[in-house]
Amino acid sequence: ILEAKNLYKNYTKGNSIIKVLENFSFEMEKGDFVAVVGPSGAGKSTLLHILGGLEKPDDGFVLFNGENIYNNDKNLDNIRNEHFGFVFQFHYLLDDFTALENVAIPGMINGSEKDAFERARDILAKMGLESRINHFPKELSGGEQQRVAIARALINSPSVLFADEPTGNLDKDNSKIVIEEFKRLNAEGLSIILVTHDEKIASVAKRILRVEKL
Ligand code: ATP
Ligand code: MG
Repeated sequence: ILEAKNLYKNYTKGNSIIKVLENFSFEMEKGDFVAVVGPSGAGKSTLLHILGGLEKPDDGFVLFNGENIYNNDKNLDNIRNEHFGFVFQFHYLLDDFTALENVAIPGMINGSEKDAFERARDILAKMGLESRINHFPKELSGGEQQRVAIARALINSPSVLFADEPTGNLDKDNSKIVIEEFKRLNAEGLSIILVTHDEKIASVAKRILRVEKL
């Protein structure tokens, strides 16, 4: 479903060049669950952003179902909106909107408002958040907030979910609940790439990709 071919990425900081990716290749089948682990600064987030169409590599290709995602900007937007979902360490929910609204709003790009609300309700119910849909983010626990963020990432039925330290801000119990959610979604066929520092969390994935600092 996703393939990276000979990726290169450097950053320049003042006079120095930080090498992050050097001739990196990777392939992921539909339904796979890959954990990306490695030390801080190894380039895990950079890799996730490049694979997810959020940051262009200096060289190399990213293919989604065989198609180069960085071929043109319009195509990239379409692929990202229709096929990719993202979850980050912080939930970035909108404070002034309820859980249900937070999930439904991005769903209105591709369909009617009514339809988006219906889908949002369904996804939240599957996550056991039925009784929380009319709560505002500040009225939810950290784990609930992050599950709402996951629900939001799923509203346009992505085929790949990209998650960067989604449990980085959660305590042990909430991390466990969130990780169970990822397992359930993967069992339903969703392809997942999960960046984490935590080996125990990484061990729930089908594969572990280790990245080293160059
Ligand atoms: P962490 O575990 O701390 O999140 P990471 O593995 O996700 O680390 P990245 O955030 O991908 O690492 O960063 C890889 C390297 O690239 C680091 O040395 C970082 O300082 C550098 N870097 C990342 N983004 C930029 C940027 N926009 N400009 C300059 N340097 C950057
Ligand atoms: Mg990172």
